[in-house]
Amino acid sequence: MVNMRTKVIAGNWKMNNDISQTTELINGLKTALSSASLKATVIVCPPYTSLGAAQQLIANSVIKLGAQDVSLHDSGAYTGEVSVSMLKSVGCSYVIVGHSERRQYHHETNEIINQKAKKVLAGSLIPIICVGETLEEREKNITNQVLTTQVKGVLSGFPAADVEKSIVAYEPVWAIGTGKTATKEQAEEAHQVIRNVIAQLYSAATADKVVIQYGGSVKADNAKELLSQPNIDGALVGGACLKADSFSAIVTAV
Ligand code: PEP
Repeated sequence: MVNMRTKVIAGNWKMNNDISQTTELINGLKTALSSASLKATVIVCPPYTSLGAAQQLIANSVIKLGAQDVSLHDSGAYTGEVSVSMLKSVGCSYVIVGHSERRQYHHETNEIINQKAKKVLAGSLIPIICVGETLEEREKNITNQVLTTQVKGVLSGFPAADVEKSIVAYEPVWAIGTGKTATKEQAEEAHQVIRNVIAQLYSAATADKVVIQYGGSVKADNAKELLSQPNIDGALVGGACLKADSFSAIVTAV
């Protein structure tokens, strides 16, 4: 049976691009994508400081807006934090939660990520929830256990309808920003593990609806073979999303 999932390509800009660079990149993307017949949902996730400018620039285009993180809290004395309703008011429809850099540098646990994802869904935005094993875990042959624990943790307490709306991003930590990409077989196997865990927790029908992206050194030249795997429903792109030509080439590889 052919699945009905639409591919989703998201660009995580990380801590890159001031306002003038944001303008240049989005204008470049709009030009590059205007002539393409798009088969994917396209999302850009600029830093908070560029969200307002990006919202104006993507108006009347196919590009959607996402944020890279969000606060656990709704408002108040949380210096430096940004809430779901603030992201909504600036035009975001998606929020990345649990990126490995947040797990590593900000000690975010599956529990925190689970709470953030719930906040995002309660605000009617879509979370892109990241999971993935480290190199050490892969070398110890515990990738499947790690992914199972992460998926159960980050989705804990979700009703099926919220799982179906969410996006999961499989991002092997050893492949992020390293130029090392998981082979299509390694990535497909991990995506199958994730989908099977969701099927066991919920049902095969729910698991079949969840978009599972691959992330980790996706480039124009490896996108096609990764995206043609049956359980790989898109890409979360870091480095290659910072140039309009390389990001649009990934989008048009779909
Ligand atoms: C990421 O940070 O989510 C990512 C996948 O980065 P890169 O594409 O640079 O590996």
